[in-house]
Amino acid sequence: MQNDTGSGLGELNFHVVDDEVFIRKLIIRVLGKMGADSEKISSSENGADAIAWLDDTTQPPDIILCDLNMPDMDGVSLMRHLATRKYRGGIILVSGEDKRILKAAEDLARAHDLNFLGALAKPVTPDALESLIKLYDPLASQRTEREGVELTADDLKTAIENKDIFVVFQPQVSVTTRELIGVETLARWIHADKGFIPPDIFVHLAEEKGLIDDLTELVVDLAVTQGGEWLADGLDVKISVNISVDNLNNLKMPEYLGTKCEEAGMDSRSLVLEVTESRLMEDIVTPLEILTRLRLKGHDLSIDDFGTGHASMEQLKRIPFSELKIDRAFVNGAHRDAGAMAILKASVDLAKSMDMLIVAEGVEDQDDWDLVAKLGCDIVQGYFSAKPMPAGDIKVWLQGWLA
Ligand SMILES: [Mg+2]
Repeated sequence: MQNDTGSGLGELNFHVVDDEVFIRKLIIRVLGKMGADSEKISSSENGADAIAWLDDTTQPPDIILCDLNMPDMDGVSLMRHLATRKYRGGIILVSGEDKRILKAAEDLARAHDLNFLGALAKPVTPDALESLIKLYDPLASQRTEREGVELTADDLKTAIENKDIFVVFQPQVSVTTRELIGVETLARWIHADKGFIPPDIFVHLAEEKGLIDDLTELVVDLAVTQGGEWLADGLDVKISVNISVDNLNNLKMPEYLGTKCEEAGMDSRSLVLEVTESRLMEDIVTPLEILTRLRLKGHDLSIDDFGTGHASMEQLKRIPFSELKIDRAFVNGAHRDAGAMAILKASVDLAKSMDMLIVAEGVEDQDDWDLVAKLGCDIVQGYFSAKPMPAGDIKVWLQGWLA
């Protein structure tokens, strides 16, 4: 493709997502004027339609132009869905919102590891649009498509049965004392032929294929067993495990977790359950019941990736969360990013007003550390203190960290 001359534009497939017909038509007209082939431009009215269309099409678009603010599924949720689907085409956000919101959305796109080309303020002009389309690198998307792994439910089932999935632990330390408070358990899968499988891929697959309870049970089992061993070894740390909202339809989950803790000699208070914010907006009657029972049984409940979904105050109040984990997108580099800083501060205030423990994720350097310390976060998780590591490395790391 020769983007710089504009002659390659006719080869590209575009998908325009905007709830306003007028804007859709305008963008399509601008694309047409720039040399795009009108046969290769499709559109949807909102994120949900776009996802349905994407799941159906045999010709995924090279570039998606997406409005940020739409009813049904907005641009932020759409990006999450695109990320789960490993969409590798280019993404251009279009928005009438102010710069700060656009910047936050942009950070989010990068946090999701999407192929983000840039954001356009409305009204869309041909010049601005063209400059972003020029950034599209067809090789980048092809490369990832080739690297993309084909996994079946059977692959995953076998991996769970054979315990090919293992766990590593990322330390969480106190901002004030540097003490080790807990660890987050992270599942890893290195497939014999296909190599490293990113967790979001296999977790999504497990959710889709009804294997999520099996996967979570395996991870809980490994995590709690390790917790018991550490305890016996004199290391009393909280163990966080990520659970899926889909696990929260399984009414036996609270008992299962209780039994596991008991077997390992671990207090239920030491097992923290992290639930990602973005999925809490879904139908939540059974999950709400289960989360409440988990809390009654003494587990801490942590709201994970905070800032990436839009849980309302109402929802936050309804679920008895005891901990809030601020997503790395609003922590790393926040000191030089007014938008991220605003979200970070607001999240800290919210957590404090609701008496929740605050964990800052993505603390990667001294500046990040100083900022979250100043704002009053309690706990830090990130490369600045420690990377995820095998259980056996924790003690050596801890000696170095406290030295
Ligand atoms: Mg987590």
